[in-house]
Amino acid sequence: MEKKKVYLDNSATTAVLPEVVEAMKPYFYDIYGNASSFHSFGRDAKKALDAARAKVASIINASSDEIIFTCGGTESDNMAIFGILKAYGKKGHVITTKIEHHAVLYSCRELEKQGHEVTYLEVDKNGVISPEDFKKAVKDNTLLVTIMHANNEVGSIQPIAEISAILKEINSSRKDKVYFHTDAVQTAGKIKLDVKKPGVDLLAISGHKFGAPKGVGALYVKKGTNIENIVFGGNQENSKRPGTENIPYIIGMAKALEIADAELANHNKHVLALREKLKKGILAQIPEIIINASADNAVANILSVSFHYIEGEALLLKLDMHGIAASSGSACATGEPSHVLAAMGADPIAAQGTVRFSFSFQNTFEEVDFVLSVLPKAVESLRAMSPVWQNKK
Ligand code: PLP
Repeated sequence: MEKKKVYLDNSATTAVLPEVVEAMKPYFYDIYGNASSFHSFGRDAKKALDAARAKVASIINASSDEIIFTCGGTESDNMAIFGILKAYGKKGHVITTKIEHHAVLYSCRELEKQGHEVTYLEVDKNGVISPEDFKKAVKDNTLLVTIMHANNEVGSIQPIAEISAILKEINSSRKDKVYFHTDAVQTAGKIKLDVKKPGVDLLAISGHKFGAPKGVGALYVKKGTNIENIVFGGNQENSKRPGTENIPYIIGMAKALEIADAELANHNKHVLALREKLKKGILAQIPEIIINASADNAVANILSVSFHYIEGEALLLKLDMHGIAASSGSACATGEPSHVLAAMGADPIAAQGTVRFSFSFQNTFEEVDFVLSVLPKAVESLRAMSPVWQNKK
């Protein structure tokens, strides 16, 4: 009998949806022209590219000329951050948070090396920044605010609307505007995004988090926002992102976003029920655990649990042996202590035993039952090796 496999790492990446593959297919075999070419093959590709751009734009309430296609979330974040700072042309001040994904965090560290100043806002125990702290952090030379919409490790949602409102007020009496970028990689397709409400200048999304292939993303850039190029070459993507467009993947991302947007309420209801079932089961069967971040203010598909007296990596290995895929939080940071949990003030020992379960609408209640039939025994067997746990018993 084939071994049961349960994939609960959908915040790292998702399966490509069959409808998405179908939508992409013609652009490999028939409409394979270069969208910049003059002939009919090129024109057909360009037509499809324009339609995909219009679709992505309309879903987030932007206009087509505000969408730049990229190769994913990391590139979109880099383009926003370095693009704004380069366009400014002087050293400036940037505000971000301590819990950003490395795509933003390491970009900010690079800015510091280049002589810019960066403030990293603290978060509370639920992984949320305070709008008051944010307001206090704004300086005369603040140029960019880059604050993620939802965190990838614990799912906490940041007060984007409040920040946007504070910035609106600040910008009304300033010569140099403070731009607002948000990394919406973990919320696109999960929370209804509207770039005008609360109002952001730049917003990054990544296709592989909502059913499109890896290697495609987009950056929304509000009209009138000047970003300098970080890559140089041809005049694709309004000359802002040179390089031949990956038409099949862009078509796939537009299709995946369309599906996710249409099914948002259904999918959220389902993943929330799965998450709550797993959470209840864990709380009922496993003592000495911490659920990270408050469920009231987090994306519905992430459950981050710290299991005392064990190593998260060891638990992931045990789960993997049973065909269950989960993660330590960030696929890109496996093996490193979590900067997110540290910023949330988590006990470092407990943080070491943290596992992130992240759901998609394709997961089932039977899969959660299976996890609950494996997880308590796996935790118990690892705890059996911990002298601290043994002494406590
Ligand atoms: N930002 C966040 C919040 C993410 O979770 C990720 C990926 O995990 C990224 C950025 C990077 O996106 P990509 O993998 O498309 O480069």
